[in-house]
Amino acid sequence: MSKKVNLLDQVNTSFDRAAKYTEFEKGLLEQVKVCNAVYHMTFPLRRDNGTIEVIHGWRAQHSYHRLPVKGGIRYTPHANEDEVAALAALMSYKCAIVDVPFGGGKGAIRIDPRKYSKAERERITRRYTHELVTRNMIGPSTDVPAPDYGTGQQEMAWIADTYSALVPASIDAFGCVTGKPVSMSGVRGRISATGRGVFFGIYEACEVAKDMKEIGLTPGIAGKRVVIQGLGNVGYHAARYLQEAGAIIIGVCEFEGSIYSENGIDIERLKEFRDETGSVMNFAGTKALAHRADGLELECDILVPAALENQITIENADRIQAKIVAEAANGPVTAEANDILRERGVMIIPDMFLNAGGVTVSYFEWIKNLTRVRFGRMGKRFEQRKDAKMLHALQDLTGKKIDPQLFEEITTGGDEADLVHSGLEETMITAFHAIREVQKFHGDIDMRTAAMVLAIDKIAATYVERGIFP
Ligand code: NAD
Repeated sequence: MSKKVNLLDQVNTSFDRAAKYTEFEKGLLEQVKVCNAVYHMTFPLRRDNGTIEVIHGWRAQHSYHRLPVKGGIRYTPHANEDEVAALAALMSYKCAIVDVPFGGGKGAIRIDPRKYSKAERERITRRYTHELVTRNMIGPSTDVPAPDYGTGQQEMAWIADTYSALVPASIDAFGCVTGKPVSMSGVRGRISATGRGVFFGIYEACEVAKDMKEIGLTPGIAGKRVVIQGLGNVGYHAARYLQEAGAIIIGVCEFEGSIYSENGIDIERLKEFRDETGSVMNFAGTKALAHRADGLELECDILVPAALENQITIENADRIQAKIVAEAANGPVTAEANDILRERGVMIIPDMFLNAGGVTVSYFEWIKNLTRVRFGRMGKRFEQRKDAKMLHALQDLTGKKIDPQLFEEITTGGDEADLVHSGLEETMITAFHAIREVQKFHGDIDMRTAAMVLAIDKIAATYVERGIFP
C-alpha cells in the first residue's frame, strides 16, 4: 500500500533543510514558513439536473511580506486545506526567487471539472469569486488569482467579470486576476508562459558543461531524449519549446495512459490528435505502455513531470532512469524520493524555480492592467525609426547595402509578445544563475535547497528591513 503523502509536509521539509543554511533567528524563520491565512468556504450548486450539491473551496494567503498575494486556482477532486496552504507557500518562495513583488497565495475548488457542464463551472466560479469579494480576499491590491490545474482563460474571464460587477468603483478591477483572454485585458504570451519558462530553465541547466559532465550528459538541449507527464497547459508548451530547440520527445504520459516512440513524437500533431479523440492512445507511430505511470520509468535524459504533485515517491524513485528530473508541476517529487534520486546522481530542477514563468508573466499582465498600456505601444515605432536611421547611416558609411530581410528583422521593433518573451527569458536565466551562486557558496547543496535558501533570504530580509524583526 502506498503511503499518503502530505504536500505541506514536503514543502516544510524543504524549508527546514534550507533554513539551516541561513542566519535568521528561529522566530523569523517560523514567520516566513507559516501560512498567514486560509479561508474554507462551502456553498450550494444547483446542478443542471436540478439537484443541489455542496461545493468546497479554499483560498490560502501564505505571506503578506509583499502585496498583493498571488497564486493560481485549481479545480481537482482531491483539493484540501493542507494542499492549498502548501501550494501558497511554494508561490511565496517562487515569487521571491524570480523577483516578482508578490506574496504567495493559492485557491482550490474540490471538483473534477470534467464532470461538470460549462454552465455549472460558470456558476461555481462566479459564486467562489463572490465569496472571496465579500471577505476582501480578492482584488488588484490584495489577492490576485491566476489559472492552475483544471482552470484556464475562461475561468479567469468569469472571475474578472464577476469582480468588476461586484466592485464597480474599482478603476483597476481587471487587475484582480491574471491569465485572462487578451480581449479582456490579458497579456500576450501568458498561456504559454509557464511551459516557456520551464523550457528556459531546462535549456540553461543543460548549458552548464560541468553539471552535464557530472551526470554523464553532453551540454546543450539538442538531441536530449525527453519524457513528458501531462499534456495540459504546462506540459504541452514545455514539450513544444523543447522539441523546437531540438530535443526528442520519446514518451508522453497522460491521464488515459502512456505512449512511447524511440524516434520521437510530434507534439503539435499529438496535441491535435488528443483534442480530436480525447486521448493520446493509438497515436500513429507510438507504442502503448501497460500502465499510465510506466512512462515515468522510461530510460531518457530528461523527465518532465507536468501534471500533479507526488508522482515520484519512495515507491518508484528507484526505477526512475532519467538523468534530469525537471519539475514543471508543483511538488511532483516527494522529499524521500528527492533523496533517493539525489543519491543516484539525478539532477532535479526544482518546481519553485522551474515553473515560475507563469507568475512572471502574470506579473506583467497585472502591470499592464494597472497602467492600461499595452507593452510596446509607446516605444515600438520610435525604436523602429531609430534602428532604421542607424542602418541607413551604416550603409552610407560603408557603401554596402544591408540584406533587405535582415534590415527588416533589425527594424521590426518589439511588440507585446516579443517584450513579454524577452522579460520571461531574462527572469528565468537570471534566477537560474542566482540559484547556482547559492549552490556554489554553500558547497554541496542541491538545487532545491539552494533555491529555497535564496527565497528565505529574500523574504526574511523584507521583514528585517521593515523593522518587524529588528
Ligand atoms: P492542466 O489541467 O492544463 O494539465 C494537466 C494535465 O495533466 C492534464 O492534461 C491531465 O489530464 C494530466 N494528468 C492528470 N493526472 C495525470 C496522471 N496521473 N498522469 C498523467 N497525466 C495526468 O494543468 P496545468 O495548468 O498544466 O498544471 C500542471 C501542473 O503545473 C500543476 O502542478 C500546476 O500546479 C503547475 N503549474 C501550473 C501553472 C500554470 O500557469 N498553469 C503555473 C505553475 C505551476
